[in-house]
Amino acid sequence: MEDIEHIPKELKLIDAKGIRLDGRRADELRPIKIEAGVLKKADGSAYLEWGNNKVLAAVYGPREAHPRHLQDPAKALVQCRYNMAPFSVTDRKRPGPDRRSVEISKVISEAFSAVVFVEQFPRTSVDVYIEVLQADAGTRCAGLTAASVALADAGIPMRDLVTSCASGKIGGVVALDLNKDEDNFGEADCPMAIVPRTGEIVLLQMDGHLTAAEFDEAMELSIGAAKQIYELQRDALRRRFASVAEAAQREAEREPPREEPPREMPPEMPEDLPPEVDDL
Ligand code: ADP
Repeated sequence: MEDIEHIPKELKLIDAKGIRLDGRRADELRPIKIEAGVLKKADGSAYLEWGNNKVLAAVYGPREAHPRHLQDPAKALVQCRYNMAPFSVTDRKRPGPDRRSVEISKVISEAFSAVVFVEQFPRTSVDVYIEVLQADAGTRCAGLTAASVALADAGIPMRDLVTSCASGKIGGVVALDLNKDEDNFGEADCPMAIVPRTGEIVLLQMDGHLTAAEFDEAMELSIGAAKQIYELQRDALRRRFASVAEAAQREAEREPPREEPPREMPPEMPEDLPPEVDDL
């Protein structure tokens, strides 16, 4: 059983002034923090907090795809594994993959396949791991946003980052970025992912019902929020590469100056030159 007993039966998710249970307005995101390069052993990594969601993403590759029969001679595979830790929700979640995590892994793999330059790395695999440490709705968006930063941290060539966000409907109002109570008791949730530079939508799902006008409104909210999230992703990468550059600078300063090898002198001319033909 999920921990929903604390919620009264007749719950008003948004009041007459347009304020939600957690104090946000309909068009407000939960606070987001992103840090890149948090794991030493992975090729790229990122840690993200999004409201009460906590997500870790790690990337390996491009590396030889295994099992070999999966290898594509024309391109790299982008393989994502989304996993929710048993301690990520109030009641212990049964460990291991379930239908939901297989579905989320698939849609995230497809979203990244649209931006990674897969043709450049035939027969290889780019492996993306998303571990949800704490879940409070919107974990696929949080995972995708973190994994995108981890891919860039790994130096995987991509057309752009992918940014993800969800909007839905609560108490008859279209609202951005639903939390767990809103997801449980709201009318609809619509996660999407976008390539901000081109505006291409690379993931779009819907749980519940929205009219066409509500859908447009929800997409407008998500696209607006994606611009803010994209800036946070870029900022995390800027901080990461500034610290890498600083570490390289410190390393260079610590190394003793290399001694110049002795310059080779040209061979000396022999004093007794052989007589020129004309002198003979
Ligand atoms: P998302 O996390 O992307 O919004 P869902 O809408 O499927 O995906 O899930 C909403 C929330 O429901 C999750 O973030 C999590 O808090 C909770 N949840 C999902 N699966 C489980 C589960 N097996 N056990 C307990 N809570 C779950």
